[in-house]
Amino acid sequence: MTAATTFSRRAPRRFWGWGQLDATLDAREQATVKTMVEQLDVPFTERPVPQVHEFALPAPRVAAPPALAGCFSATPLDRLNHCVGKSYADLARMWLRSAPTPPDWVAYPDDEQAVIDILDWAQTHNVAVIPYGGGSSVCGGVEAAVGDSYAGVVSLDLERLNRVLEVDPVSRAARIQAGALGPELQAQLKPHDLTLRHFPQSFEFSTLGGWIVTRAGGHYATQTTHIDDLVESTRLVTPAGVLQTRRLPGSGAGPAPDRLVLGSEGTLGVLTEAWVRVQAPPRFRASASIRFTDYFAAARCVRALSQSGLNPANCRLLDPLETVFSGVGDGRFAILVLGFESADHPLQAWMERALELVRDHGGAYDLEAVAQSLATQGGDGHRSGAAGAWRDAFLRMPYWRDPAVGLGLIMDTFETAITWDRFEAFYENVKADVGAAIARATGQEALLSCRLTHVYPDGPAPYFTFAARGGADGSVASALGAWRDIKQAANAAVIAHGGTSTHHHAVGRDHRSGYEREVPALFRQMLAAAKQVADPRGIMNPGVLLDTVGRPVGIRGALEPNA
Ligand SMILES: Cc1cc2nc3c(=O)[nH]c(=O)nc-3n(C[C@H](O)[C@H](O)[C@H](O)COP(=O)(O)OP(=O)(O)OC[C@H]3O[C@@H](n4cnc5c(N)ncnc54)[C@H](O)[C@@H]3O)c2cc1C
Repeated sequence: MTAATTFSRRAPRRFWGWGQLDATLDAREQATVKTMVEQLDVPFTERPVPQVHEFALPAPRVAAPPALAGCFSATPLDRLNHCVGKSYADLARMWLRSAPTPPDWVAYPDDEQAVIDILDWAQTHNVAVIPYGGGSSVCGGVEAAVGDSYAGVVSLDLERLNRVLEVDPVSRAARIQAGALGPELQAQLKPHDLTLRHFPQSFEFSTLGGWIVTRAGGHYATQTTHIDDLVESTRLVTPAGVLQTRRLPGSGAGPAPDRLVLGSEGTLGVLTEAWVRVQAPPRFRASASIRFTDYFAAARCVRALSQSGLNPANCRLLDPLETVFSGVGDGRFAILVLGFESADHPLQAWMERALELVRDHGGAYDLEAVAQSLATQGGDGHRSGAAGAWRDAFLRMPYWRDPAVGLGLIMDTFETAITWDRFEAFYENVKADVGAAIARATGQEALLSCRLTHVYPDGPAPYFTFAARGGADGSVASALGAWRDIKQAANAAVIAHGGTSTHHHAVGRDHRSGYEREVPALFRQMLAAAKQVADPRGIMNPGVLLDTVGRPVGIRGALEPNA
């Protein structure tokens, strides 16, 4: 067996970063990383990337079930790839050559029956099961930190369940297996001239199942922001049996079962497939990049847009520092990236009305560029100009992060939502609290920026990004230590100032402290009771979202000092 042996049928991924093993940065991207790193007083030197042979993994503690041996892998590469997700702390630990709690086995079931058999085997042998989609969790959702009460842990990777099984062109819906990555489902829907149009930043390496159980946020800045509203029905294999919901366009029949599956984060069972609402690809687009000298005037403009009923597909407000991080500005202005799309009608009237609101709030834009975006319908017009630059930087950002983490930089994000009446104070207070925490933990002034990723008539979803040098020694270890303090402070700040612990990154392990303050205790008891029915022996993703009855409590993964 070589270091690169894997049972995965996909192109090998970086276990220590984003993308495939052979991903590279172009010269311009390398220069950007160098500038960013040097701005924070971190010397820019080549650091060797982690190699599989540098990790000493313990032997699996349980034997694989003989009948399923063909889909059970214990190769070091597979175990490392399933050890953690893709948060800053996950990557930092890999750069430190520390695989905190590798799963004993990685299972790649070929079909739903194999999923059922694995759960039966796991229940009988007291083995914890961690459902795994694309592994892009940024909150500890796929980490095998389950405590000592289990005989072993299996990471259950759904990559072989990646097909579009059925398309209903009349109702515009598709039945899709949960393990399909974004590009895989997109490619299979294309011959039907249909698309899901749910594009999280992690689209390339995340799955339909992962999106549904984490309630992911896609590219639509208004209306169907979360995957929730695109889900028509779900099929969940639980240790207690299969939960199949009915396909309906809407229903008022009591609490909706799909709503319990959405956000369940692998704690109730394994989502094997879902019917989702699809649509024709957009033919008409319009976009504009708008500059504001006053950030709060820009925010008020976004509020007016979100309450206008125009429902722009894109309505991302970048504060001045965020424009620098995204490579679309120089830090002097806030920039609003505004876009409309439609498969049905030209968008001139929508854009014209939106620009009236923009002018009312003091925004400035290049009229010719807007006219050009309206003129290049159906093609790649939306990929040019500031909107295109923002989109490209947005998709490439995770690739830039990899070398920066290895150089001892902390680069992370946290996201939340707040009602408009409290937004301005919230923005100031969260920046002050987290900025102070960054200064305390690193001894440096904070580079902390914000963009509004999604907006609703009653409030925005602010998404904060920060970068800092970990400590004077520039080591990844000191950076990780500093990150723990900053992350705790961010978790506390968003809740203390009235926001949610997460708008779309899910709860996992890292956001549990906030979730437990945000959600009523009685509701958490109701959820725990539901889990006991679906998962009576408590084998499903222990430590994520809620404590498992009868098992160790308070497992926190990356936030624990020795993890
Ligand atoms: C660079 C980057 C950008 C990101 N951008 C976005 C973004 O724009 N929007 C957004 O919402 N999130 C984003 N995320 C977070 C992450 O991509 C989402 O949470 C995504 O929905 C996870 O999907 P996945 O398939 O990778 O799931 P995984 O990471 O594999 O798993 C996530 C959780 O879901 C559970 N799970 C996965 N599949 C199943 C299944 N079939 N059945 C039951 N449980 C399952 C896992 O056990 C785990 O708890 C980003 C992450 C990164 C690293």
